[in-house]
Amino acid sequence: SVRVGVLALQGDVEEHEYAIKRASEELGINVDIIRVKKTEQLSDLSALVIPGGESTTIGSLARRVGLLDRLRDSIINGLPTLGTCAGAIFMAREVRDSVVGETGQPILGVMDIAVVRNAFGRQRDSFETDLSIDGIGTVRAVFIRAPAIVRAWGNARALAYVKHPRLGNVIAAAQEGDMMATAFHPELTTTKVHKYLLELALGKH
Ligand code: GLN
Repeated sequence: SVRVGVLALQGDVEEHEYAIKRASEELGINVDIIRVKKTEQLSDLSALVIPGGESTTIGSLARRVGLLDRLRDSIINGLPTLGTCAGAIFMAREVRDSVVGETGQPILGVMDIAVVRNAFGRQRDSFETDLSIDGIGTVRAVFIRAPAIVRAWGNARALAYVKHPRLGNVIAAAQEGDMMATAFHPELTTTKVHKYLLELALGKH
């Protein structure tokens, strides 16, 4: 069966586990879900999810337990990985904050995307909308203190866009090889994105 890890340092781990479980049932495949808190738990994974939460917390905990470098190595070596919201920030090569500018926070820096943290404002500015995602279809997307993906370069490409009140259209989902980043929280509304990740792990995209 397929082993799927969920980075379980902070954030909405259980929602992702549930989404992976439902996605695997819909695809008719057997999946073992591994909570990744230590480096040993990275071995033999077929895919990884990095949840939403607080990217600075996820980053400093990852560094403290020695996961930062090991995670980066695994992903660079081809582990299919989905980062949602804080997870997308953690995967990005360039991270700014809409208020404080350069954050200097610990990141993986594996995806050729630039993000602006908290780009849509405060918690009360959270919103949801329908998005059309290339290769995935239409999903209801929940943005919670979401980042904006403001640039994708190299082999990274935009899969979906969302309208930002000042910046115009910004990227809501991006893919680079077997890496995916979403500014929103697919685990709350749909299994489509997790199915896509499982299909990446099975070599179908
Ligand atoms: N605002 C959070 C951060 O900057 C992300 C929010 C989320 O994951 N829902 O890390």
